[in-house]
Amino acid sequence: MLDLLHELAPLPRELVSDGYDAALSRLAEVVPMTIHEVPSGTPVWTWTVPEKWSVEEAYLESLDGQRLLDVADHPLHIVSYSLPFEGVVSRQELFAHLHTHPHLPDAIPFVFKYYQRDWGLCCPQTLKDRLQDAEYRVVIRTRFEPGVLKIGEIVIPGQRPESFVLAAHLCHPAQANDDLTGVLVGLDVARALLAGPPLRHTVRILFFPETIGSVTYLSQHEDLIPSMRGGLFLEMLGNDAPLALQGSFQPESQCDRALVSALRGVAPTGYAGPYRTIIDNDERQFNAPGVRVPMLSLSRVVNPHLPESRFAPYPEYHSSADTPAIVTQGRLEEAREVALALVRAFDSNRYVVNQFKGEVFASGHGIWIDYRVNPEGHRNLFQIMERCDGERTVADIATQLNLPYPAVWEIIHQFAEKGLVTFSDVPQPTNPHRAAQ
Ligand SMILES: [Zn+2]
Repeated sequence: MLDLLHELAPLPRELVSDGYDAALSRLAEVVPMTIHEVPSGTPVWTWTVPEKWSVEEAYLESLDGQRLLDVADHPLHIVSYSLPFEGVVSRQELFAHLHTHPHLPDAIPFVFKYYQRDWGLCCPQTLKDRLQDAEYRVVIRTRFEPGVLKIGEIVIPGQRPESFVLAAHLCHPAQANDDLTGVLVGLDVARALLAGPPLRHTVRILFFPETIGSVTYLSQHEDLIPSMRGGLFLEMLGNDAPLALQGSFQPESQCDRALVSALRGVAPTGYAGPYRTIIDNDERQFNAPGVRVPMLSLSRVVNPHLPESRFAPYPEYHSSADTPAIVTQGRLEEAREVALALVRAFDSNRYVVNQFKGEVFASGHGIWIDYRVNPEGHRNLFQIMERCDGERTVADIATQLNLPYPAVWEIIHQFAEKGLVTFSDVPQPTNPHRAAQ
């Protein structure tokens, strides 16, 4: 993952652009994928697929010809989707179009104006502070033309058409942690799922430009939306911060319950938070009206309750300081393992139907846990057992007992091996008073 990160990070990956296309083709060499192509101008729900944008050159000069900044030195020196502009401008007018980073004086900020139709350049605050002339020369030669928005999709067929969606965006020029790390973890998850034991659900892994890409995919695959049962957005997974799992718009969903309870088992230092409280990305499109797929989001973000969260989501966010240097292979691998565990928890989660009546004679069935040796395990065994009634899923039981999903699964799996419980995709209440009601 780190090698690919170094290779792809410098590319100017814009919404519809050669840099984006080059990155996506390279990913498709690593894991084969379908590439959906949608032309500029295509209406996608309330949006329209944008034009392809290219930069021929862009620079700022003093009137005596001294080059002050040049996009050839760093792709972030230009506002993404900047209009072309050429002319001599006053210092005041320049400053209205020259962007700096709010807290990193030596970094170039990532600024995008996809739909505002404006021109702009970006530079470190330290450079801007040195600009004392009355006038400057601006040259921005950018091109807008019909192009093709590209979406990469890896489908891992399951036993059933109902699907789980993993998604990441690929449109942050010359940055590493946001957004390439999410893409590379997603790609590695795909590789592991393709090699691993078969899944019950079909898994769709999507790479696209942010917002417009997910709207485009969903609007062109409306027939698939009813079968999408849950999802996970991946981003910012290599920086030095704890893993954070943001819930979906429907916190009571089976997807939310399975993933949130699974996180506690596989990432003890991670934390979970409600929808839109950690980071906003394409999961918004999946959770939105008319779609309502419960999609959570996994990232590394300093806990909002800690003092260092004033630089949330992380200090180098949306700047030229977001380079592979702030990412480690170990953190990417940990994120991949956690994402895999979340997918597998979602996939295994079903209603647990008791094939027993009364309390199970645990020692007679070889599942008794000695309370003198392991009092907590003993209590958990019986608390889990009494909730196996065909009305609760594994995730419901884990959530109700505030236990990690893997711990609950392990005990229920033992019951299943002894024929004490079976699994069902729909509730099958075994309470005899239900029928009498
Ligand atoms: Zn971003």
